[in-house]
Amino acid sequence: MIDKEKVMAAVKLFLEGIGEDPNREGLLETPERVARMCEDIFGGMSEDPGMHLSKQFPAQSSELVIEKDITFFSTCEHHLLPFFGKAHIAYIPDGKVVGLSKLPRTVEVFARRPQIQEQMTIQIADAVESNLAAKGVMVMIEAEHTCLTMRGVKKPGTKTITMATRGLFVENQERQKMFLEAVKSC
Ligand code: ZN
Repeated sequence: MIDKEKVMAAVKLFLEGIGEDPNREGLLETPERVARMCEDIFGGMSEDPGMHLSKQFPAQSSELVIEKDITFFSTCEHHLLPFFGKAHIAYIPDGKVVGLSKLPRTVEVFARRPQIQEQMTIQIADAVESNLAAKGVMVMIEAEHTCLTMRGVKKPGTKTITMATRGLFVENQERQKMFLEAVKSC
């Protein structure tokens, strides 16, 4: 749970720290606004990804399931600046599948936390693998980090790509290629 009082006090102090006057009209409600926003953008911290993946349906199929272009917004834990992009998830079921909305919800749980892209990729792969007992999982995330584009080296458009493989995807170049090609096609 977000401690709104603490966030509000911190935002006020932060504004003072950068040389602002937290009592000037435009900033008066900023601490309260930021605290409310934190409930949204960091709300994933109090959520268990298993909650979305626990409702499963039996399926005979053990063929590849791919859900791609899952848009997400997250916050880089090193700079507290946004990073955003698309997550792509593939899994090979072992007798059970989840509803199609559940994978995007799982992405949300991990995106709505202070995060680094590498870790988020692994967390999604592990959550799908363990909750679904899937035979194989592959996750690819492509994202733009505003800490790279609006500060520091300032290279807008730079994309960071991370991948994680589990089970039957590990060391199986053919399967990985199939997934990456599906992600590329429209
Ligand atoms: Zn950063």
